[in-house]
Amino acid sequence: MAKLYFRYGTMDSAKSMNLLAVAHNYRKQGKTVRLLKPAIDDRFGRDTIRSRSGLERKVDLLVDEDTRLDPRDFVGVDCVLVDEAQFLPPRVVDDLREITHDPGVPVICYGLRTDFRTRLFPGSRRLLELADRIEEVKVTCTHCNRKAIFNMRLCDGIPVTQGEQIALGDETYEPLCSACFLARVPLAVLRGESTPGG
Ligand SMILES: [Zn+2]
Repeated sequence: MAKLYFRYGTMDSAKSMNLLAVAHNYRKQGKTVRLLKPAIDDRFGRDTIRSRSGLERKVDLLVDEDTRLDPRDFVGVDCVLVDEAQFLPPRVVDDLREITHDPGVPVICYGLRTDFRTRLFPGSRRLLELADRIEEVKVTCTHCNRKAIFNMRLCDGIPVTQGEQIALGDETYEPLCSACFLARVPLAVLRGESTPGG
C-alpha cells in the first residue's frame, strides 16, 4: 500500500516549488507523475503550476466537485502530486486515498492548512483526517523570526477579518506567527465579538 501525504504550510512557504522539484526528480528517473490541481485556482492560468521562483509545469488534470477519479487511469503512474490541495472537494480526497490502495500509487498533496480566519479549508480537513503522513513546509513570520502558522489577508495593507474563504482577487496575504497574527487580528474579532482595534 502506498501512502497519502499532506504537506501543509502557509502562504509563501514554497509549496509549489517543493512540488515541482519532486516532479522533476521523478521524471529525471524516467518515472511517470500526474499533476492535479483544483479548477478553482486560476491565479496563474488554470492549467499551470507555477512557483514564485519561476519554475512551472502544465497540470495533467483539473478537478472540481464533479470529478470522480477512476483508479484504472492511475495504473502505471509512480506518483500523484496535487497543488493547492486546500481547495480539493472532500470527495476527491476520498478518491485519492483509494488510489493509494488500488492501484497503489503514492499521493502527495500540498496546500494551506487554514484560511485568513484560522479555519480549516474543507480539502485540508479531509486530508488531515485521511493522510498517513502530515508534514509541515515551514516559513518564517513576515514580522519576526518565529515560524509562521497563520495567513493574514490584507486589503490595501489593512488586515481583513471577514469575507469569503476563497477570494482570489486584489487581496494579498502574509504568513505570520501566532503572536504577530493575534496582535493584529484578535480571535475575539474573528468570532465577531469585537471590532478591529476596539
Ligand atoms: Zn511573528
